[in-house]
Amino acid sequence: MVMGPEPLFECFDHLECIHGGKPGRVIMMCPQGEPFSQGYAKELSREEHLVIVCGHYEGIDERVREALVTDEISIGDYVLTGGELPAMVVVDAVARMIPGVLGEAASAEEDSFYHGVLEHPHYTKPRVYRGYEVPEILLSGHHENIRKWRRRQSLLRTLERRPELLQDVELGKEDKKVLLELLDLLQSLKLS
Ligand code: SAM
Repeated sequence: MVMGPEPLFECFDHLECIHGGKPGRVIMMCPQGEPFSQGYAKELSREEHLVIVCGHYEGIDERVREALVTDEISIGDYVLTGGELPAMVVVDAVARMIPGVLGEAASAEEDSFYHGVLEHPHYTKPRVYRGYEVPEILLSGHHENIRKWRRRQSLLRTLERRPELLQDVELGKEDKKVLLELLDLLQSLKLS
């Protein structure tokens, strides 16, 4: 079963009346689309209007894509029953990029992917829980050492889990030094 063109084209006629022109970016959720990313979310958050079209069954009549759609987005290489959950993923990721949505703008900027690397691990109280301890350095109150520890953890996680991300990150002198140390360390662990 394929979703026919008529209801969608009529819906767009109505939208054009509301916005007094074209409805702006029109996103079709589609497993064949461009992979969704933090950068894509950031870009979409600058738009005033977004229209998201969700398919179901086999998908949507191709003429809708040809005539109405500006972007096709996939949330991953797997197929879901409908586009509603993928649309929710896009709405959430885009909304938190809009200034004022999160309590502090810095929260989003510290998250994984914002600056291209994975985020460092987090700890909160208590200091020891069931024998598991918060790293001593985080209790030191020394902000510069804590910043350095977090950056090192962030680079380590990225190196271990998603090394390909590092190709597109702007690395400073300090980052490069840390990465070389980490590579040596990982290499010596492999050899031992
Ligand atoms: N026949 C389509 C194909 O093979 O490419 C799959 C259709 S899927 C069962 C139905 C709808 O779910 C799609 O039109 C799309 O809106 C949505 N959908 C499923 N998987 C998706 C994904 N990974 N990313 C984005 N949307 C997806």
